[in-house]
Amino acid sequence: MRETVRRRLAAWWEVNARDLPWRFGRTTPWGVLVSEVMSQQTQMSRVVPYWTEWMRTWPDAAALAAASAAEVITAWGRLGYPRRALRLQECARAVAQRYDDELPDDYETLLSLPGVGDYTASAVSSFAFGRRVPVIDTNIRRVLSRVLLGVESRGGAATRTERDLAADALPSDVAESVVWNQSVMELGAVVCTAKKPSCEICPIAGLCAFLAAGRPGLGERRTRPRQRFQGTDRQVRGIVLDALRRRRTGSDASASGLPRDEVEALWKDHAQLDACIASLDDDGLIDILPDGSLTLPR
Ligand code: SF4
Repeated sequence: MRETVRRRLAAWWEVNARDLPWRFGRTTPWGVLVSEVMSQQTQMSRVVPYWTEWMRTWPDAAALAAASAAEVITAWGRLGYPRRALRLQECARAVAQRYDDELPDDYETLLSLPGVGDYTASAVSSFAFGRRVPVIDTNIRRVLSRVLLGVESRGGAATRTERDLAADALPSDVAESVVWNQSVMELGAVVCTAKKPSCEICPIAGLCAFLAAGRPGLGERRTRPRQRFQGTDRQVRGIVLDALRRRRTGSDASASGLPRDEVEALWKDHAQLDACIASLDDDGLIDILPDGSLTLPR
């Protein structure tokens, strides 16, 4: 049965894979790594323009390593979770200095790079270097759990059962394992989605244990639903960074910081605003100047 699932998904991938610019061997392994870091917590379709501009500006790790933090944070734009941008630059420095600007091609060495966790190391090993490695992200966990076990994957940290399942389901053929990782992940992103899976157009509907069981517990989550964005510290941090980006690149670009009165006009709740400014400073995303004005890091 698993072999039939694999063949159907491979055929579906062949015709339906989204034409993303980092797929199908059109970029370097470094470009694949950048796409994976950007796609964490951000939808791939939203990532495309950012990735394209980023790779045009900094085509390799050495180029990114040489950029200023302000340039990197500005280019990250509205991708969200901007600490990822600084971690990516740390990673670029390590690749440029330790590995002569060539991304290492094995999982263990990739994992040793700053900001590279299990998911990114395995995704880059598989997608960029064609290694046989199980890739485990929320989409893959959801599809494998539904199709092969007939139960909902309820989010949170990956369980031992889910890890064993991903390792066990991985085809032994190396090339097939790469297509398997990509096709299962893509199915989870565009067909077998968390809340409204499109079973009516799914290429493996006839083989899916979850569908056969009546989709028990569809959409149930172990974790709390995501905090709404409006009014959160994430929103306030984003507003402050946006103002600093605009000041750096706009017509009022200036060497001085954003003055305190303009900072205070950004958000009414000044206690929350100050806490967010302090956390941005802690994260190395802004500098607070002696007169209280703010800039992107210099
Ligand atoms: S049949 Fe439905 S639940 Fe099963 S894999 Fe396809 S989309 Fe997901």
